[in-house]
Amino acid sequence: MIESRRRLADNREIIYFDANGTPGTREATDTRDLPVTTTHSECRYDALLGEWVVIASHRQSRTFLPPADQCPLCPSTPERSTEVPEPEYQVVVFENRFPSLATSVDPDLPAHVSGAPLAALRPGFGRCEVVCFTSDHTLSFAELSHERARLVVDTWAQRTTELSATDGVEQVFCFENHGEEIGVTLSHPHGQIYAYPFVAPRVRKILDQVRAHREAQGGNLFGEVLSSEREAGIRVVTSNQHWTAFVPAAARWPYEVQLFCHRQVPDIPALTDDERDAFVDVYLDVLRRFARRFDTPMPYIASWNQAPTRVGRDDWWLHLQLFSFRRAPGKLKYLAGSESGMNIFINDTTPEGVAEALRSVVVA
Ligand SMILES: [Zn+2]
Repeated sequence: MIESRRRLADNREIIYFDANGTPGTREATDTRDLPVTTTHSECRYDALLGEWVVIASHRQSRTFLPPADQCPLCPSTPERSTEVPEPEYQVVVFENRFPSLATSVDPDLPAHVSGAPLAALRPGFGRCEVVCFTSDHTLSFAELSHERARLVVDTWAQRTTELSATDGVEQVFCFENHGEEIGVTLSHPHGQIYAYPFVAPRVRKILDQVRAHREAQGGNLFGEVLSSEREAGIRVVTSNQHWTAFVPAAARWPYEVQLFCHRQVPDIPALTDDERDAFVDVYLDVLRRFARRFDTPMPYIASWNQAPTRVGRDDWWLHLQLFSFRRAPGKLKYLAGSESGMNIFINDTTPEGVAEALRSVVVA
C-alpha cells in the first residue's frame, strides 16, 4: 500500500491509499477558496448514566444529499472542484469538514456545564475522518472487487494505528452508514472513522462482562460465544478458515450479523494478511446477501468493535457488527418507546429465521 499525504485548501489533511504497483502521482492541489471552519464541540458528562454526550452545534449547516453531479466525494474535474483534488483515486481519507470532534478545539473550558456542577465539561477533542472506498459514485461496498475491499481493510488498519497513537484518543471507531433510510447525507460509497477521547459505553459494558466472566469461570466470553455458535451452526450465515458470520442469539435488529475473527486479536492492525483476505471474502459475501435479501438493497450500519487504545486490550476480541433497520420490504424498525426510552430492544424477527433467510439468498 502506498500512502500520499497532502493538505486541502483549508489545511485539512487528505491521505491517498493506493495498492502496491499502481502509484498515482497524487500531486493535484486544492484550488478552492475554502474558509477555515472552526469546531465548537464539547463533551458533557451525564452524571446519572455515567456517559459522555458530544454537543456539536456547528454541524447544522452541513451538506445534505446533494445531486450526484455535485457530490463532494467524487474526484475533481476541470469544471468542478470537490473534496478530492485528484481526477481519480483508489481509497482516500480526509478530515471531515464538519467534524463532531476535532484536534483543534479550544482546550480552555470551564470544568463543568454552567449551573450544573455534576455535568463535567471537556473539549470535543478527537478526529472525524471520511473514507471513500472508490472514486466510482455508483458502486456500493458490496460491489467492490476483492482487491479494493482489501485496500479498504489496510486503510482502516493504518488509520487505527495512527489515531490510536494520538495523545488523548481512547477509542477508534471505523463504520459505514449505508442507505438513505439510515440517514446518510451523501450517497457516494464511503465510511467514516471517529477517534473518541473516551472509551465507548458499549465497549466498556462488554469489557465489564468479559472481565466478570473471566474472574468467575475463567475463559474468554467472546471466544465461548464464538465457539458455541460455530458448533451449533443454526445461526451461522457463512464462514471460512479465519472468520465466522452469525446472527447473534439475542439479536436486537431485524437483520443483524456479527463477523468474528477465529483468533483473538484486539483490533484491525493485529490481523495477518491471510486474516484480512479471509475477512474480505466473508464480508463481501454477507453484504451481497444483505443487498439481495429484498427487492432493493438493504440499508445497513457496519460497525467495527475494536479494543480501546489503552485499556482492556488483552480481554478484547475484534468483531464487526452489521445490522439493518429494515424488517420487511418497505418496513423499517423505529427505535420507539421501549428502545429509545429504556434501551430495551424488541425484535420482530427470530435470529434463527434471519440466519436461514440469509443463507438461502443466492449470491451469484
Ligand atoms: Zn460521488
